[in-house]
Amino acid sequence: MSEKISIHPSVDNGLQAAQDGFKGGTLVCHCTTAPVKVTLTSQTAHNHACGCTKCWKPEGANFSVVAVVSRDALSVTEQEQKLAIVDPKAAIQRHACKECGVHMYGRIENKGHPFYGLDFVHTELSPQKGWAAPGFAAFVSSIIESGFQPSKMDAVRSRLKELKLEPYDCLSPPLMDAIATHVAKASGALKA
Ligand SMILES: [Zn+2]
Ligand SMILES: [Zn+2]
Repeated sequence: MSEKISIHPSVDNGLQAAQDGFKGGTLVCHCTTAPVKVTLTSQTAHNHACGCTKCWKPEGANFSVVAVVSRDALSVTEQEQKLAIVDPKAAIQRHACKECGVHMYGRIENKGHPFYGLDFVHTELSPQKGWAAPGFAAFVSSIIESGFQPSKMDAVRSRLKELKLEPYDCLSPPLMDAIATHVAKASGALKA
């Protein structure tokens, strides 16, 4: 038996199916007193496991699990003063709790960005059940940048496939196509 590769605690025992008609819920940071709360008024989209070094991951996880939601559907409802932007120069401004370090949402302020209008969220922070399950794995090779053993990458990709999280080393083809379409429309190579 090969050693069990951990992807993320929310998927290691199998994926939880989304609930039909699910309308959102609350994200809560890890502070035991006065946690930051963020309210989402819709289901998320494009949920996926992400191996990049920028997304917030729970302790010990090799991947984050991150989804998007329309920025109109997100509001900080408690302890907003505890939030700070991790890297103000990054395309995605990740608003993290200054005390526990959890990223509560990532927002794109550049109106020309292909994903402008979408906020990035981690629904594992929510006590509600029914959120969309992850559908693929992005930036898989990037886990090596966090110190993961390159020799174990075959095992990681096999485990992701077993979980039906198709592994990609950038984003999924539909999202890469969406980015390229946005760029082509901006340059005039494609008519809007
Ligand atoms: Zn916190
Ligand atoms: Zn990421």
